[in-house]
Amino acid sequence: APAAEFAVIGDPVSHSLSPRMHQAAYAALGLRYRYVAVHVPAGEVGPALDHLSALSYVGVNVTVPHKEDALKWCTQIDPLARRVQAANTLRLADKACINTDAPGFMETLESLRREAGSAVLSTINHQASTIKPTVLLLGAGGSARALAFALAQAGWRLRIYNRTRERAVEMLNGLEIEAELLSQPDPEGADLILNTTSASLQGASLGIPWENASRDAVAYDLMYAEGGTPFLREAAERGLRTCDGRPLLAAQGALAFEWWLGVPAPRQVMLEALD
Ligand code: NDP
Repeated sequence: APAAEFAVIGDPVSHSLSPRMHQAAYAALGLRYRYVAVHVPAGEVGPALDHLSALSYVGVNVTVPHKEDALKWCTQIDPLARRVQAANTLRLADKACINTDAPGFMETLESLRREAGSAVLSTINHQASTIKPTVLLLGAGGSARALAFALAQAGWRLRIYNRTRERAVEMLNGLEIEAELLSQPDPEGADLILNTTSASLQGASLGIPWENASRDAVAYDLMYAEGGTPFLREAAERGLRTCDGRPLLAAQGALAFEWWLGVPAPRQVMLEALD
């Protein structure tokens, strides 16, 4: 039997690439661990985690829509996870949790900045820069909270649009950060257009007036899908540079791997496992 077992819980979860990615990392390092996807319906997170704990699972990643419930199960909560009220990485033995979405996301922005030649992108992540880059953040769920907080801390100017406006208001109050709330998903003036909604899961379009977007802007979708998401297809038609959810999946997964195992994650292997 493998020496350690890991899982990702979510609903839906069958499409998750996390098992493939972590298994590829174990194989590259000669580790005989196992990582599986476990479907957990809403409201069942506590009992599911108790069960996995009883089965001696070591670590669990948490995906949509359980990041808040997972945090509530934990007794040792990392300050960032507590602040954004979302945990995506759990260690079961001591009921500890962290959030690797926020630091993972900032890592992917840094890579984008390095790859890009454009002047606008070169302001990304430059805390010391006098020109504050602007992000249009779409959504107000668990991932939006983590990313909004990370971006605000890194000196970004935030504009936020969410289908349910009150949820965006609650998010800002909870995070104690400043942002402009928009009544339309208008990308005008944004250097980064960031889709954290799960609209693409339903194949839905967000109705963004792309003609207002700067041609230097980057369109970034947390989701990934073969053939792209409606959001990224529309952005590409407008001629924008795009980034899908795979680099983030790899980055947050690598940080989780390192927290659980205490050894450097084979990042390139993990990223390539998502191709
Ligand atoms: P939540 O369920 O917490 O939030 C969902 C958000 O999407 C809400 O803002 C909701 O708006 C909005 N939304 C859902 N459907 C629609 C729609 N049809 N039109 C407009 N808005 C919609 O989810 P999470 O924040 O946890 O995750 C969001 C997405 O990001 C998921 O698809 C997840 O897979 C992906 N993700 C990917 C990661 C990666 O590693 N690549 C990491 C983290 C997340 P409302 O408030 O109005 O309901």
